[in-house]
Amino acid sequence: MYCIHCRAPVRYNRALVREHDGRTLAGLCSECEREQFGRVLRGGYADPSGACLFCSRPGALALPVHRIDLDDGPDDHSETRGYPVEATTPRLCDGHAGEAFGLKAERLRSEATLATYAVDDD
Ligand SMILES: [Zn+2]
Ligand SMILES: [Zn+2]
Repeated sequence: MYCIHCRAPVRYNRALVREHDGRTLAGLCSECEREQFGRVLRGGYADPSGACLFCSRPGALALPVHRIDLDDGPDDHSETRGYPVEATTPRLCDGHAGEAFGLKAERLRSEATLATYAVDDD
């Protein structure tokens, strides 16, 4: 997966996930995240309404952070890695997603994906 801004490989930072079908469009590296959002995305976003981080419109793009869940059962040791989208995951509406990432609203709604960015390199 590659950063939507600088196109550097993104391994463990943040992903851009389209809300309506859960498809990953691209990654966001930590440098670009800091440059663009400062600490806003890190600062404990706790609005479970699914609204945009910057306005009250519904979120079209979720920005989940990479997470490793360890599940230590009695005889089972499993590990889930990924970018889970949850109620408190920061979201942007199509307008703010367009402003932040140059993603057109049609792109957020269409079935097409940004294949070059969303390559899974795991
Ligand atoms: Zn970047
Ligand atoms: Zn917005």
